[in-house]
Amino acid sequence: MKELCLDFLNTRWYLTHKLNKEILADPALLKEFLEVRQLHVEAPASFETIEGLLELREFLAKILEDYTRANSISSDAIKRINYYLAISTCRRVMEQREQGFQITIQPVSFDWNWVMAEITTSFVELIGCSGYNRIKLCENPDCKWFFYDETKSRTKRWCDDRCASLMKVRRFRAKQKKDSQNEEALSD
Ligand SMILES: [Zn+2]
Repeated sequence: MKELCLDFLNTRWYLTHKLNKEILADPALLKEFLEVRQLHVEAPASFETIEGLLELREFLAKILEDYTRANSISSDAIKRINYYLAISTCRRVMEQREQGFQITIQPVSFDWNWVMAEITTSFVELIGCSGYNRIKLCENPDCKWFFYDETKSRTKRWCDDRCASLMKVRRFRAKQKKDSQNEEALSD
């Protein structure tokens, strides 16, 4: 489920790219986003819910960004993560499956607190099962797309080829500018 947290954080990418819209504040897009990820919430999102989701996204993005740089998470951040994990209550349920009986853990209520706790769980799973050098933030400063680097060498720097070539062009232009400035300085 670690993809859930990355997808949630990457909704901010659409503010400056393709959709140019805040998915979390658009009831239809938010519903679609959650349903694709098997999160069927019973109540529609209120204004406070949207504020809460935006706050959660900002908080998780900040600590994930710090984590990719420093490989650590502050105790204050862990405290707040535990707050989000505790806002939804779960219960154990006995179920009959083809192979026999088993216990599953289910939320007491399929509400927005449950959604936030699921996203936070996914965040902890993401950083728990992958080294910090696997989680990357696209190096294009205008992009801000988080991704999971699956390359063996863990050297992927950009989310896709477009960002890679854009940054190549920028580096090339910056170098050209520097070279021509150097030439001007020499001819002075
Ligand atoms: Zn990118």
